[in-house]
Amino acid sequence: MRASLTAIAILAALALGYAVSCAVRPYRDCWLCDGRGHHRSKRKRKLSRPCRWCSATGKRLRYGRRLWNRARRVHRNAGVAR
Ligand SMILES: [Zn+2]
Repeated sequence: MRASLTAIAILAALALGYAVSCAVRPYRDCWLCDGRGHHRSKRKRKLSRPCRWCSATGKRLRYGRRLWNRARRVHRNAGVAR
C-alpha cells in the first residue's frame, strides 16, 4: 500500500514537471531535420529542400503542449455545438 502511494506520488511529480517544462518550452527541435528547417542532401553538401515535417521552421510543438492546446480548443468550443 505504501509503495503504491509512493509510486503514485512519483508519477504525479513527473507529470507535473513535464507539464511545467511544456509550458516553459513548448517547442523542441524537429526530429527530421534536427532544427535546421532544411534537409541536407548527401551528394551536393548544401542545404536543399525545406523540411515538410516542420514547415521549414525547425521547431515542432512538444507532445504535451499539443495535448494542452487540443484540450483548450475542446473546452473553448464546448458551448458552440449545442
Ligand atoms: Zn524539420
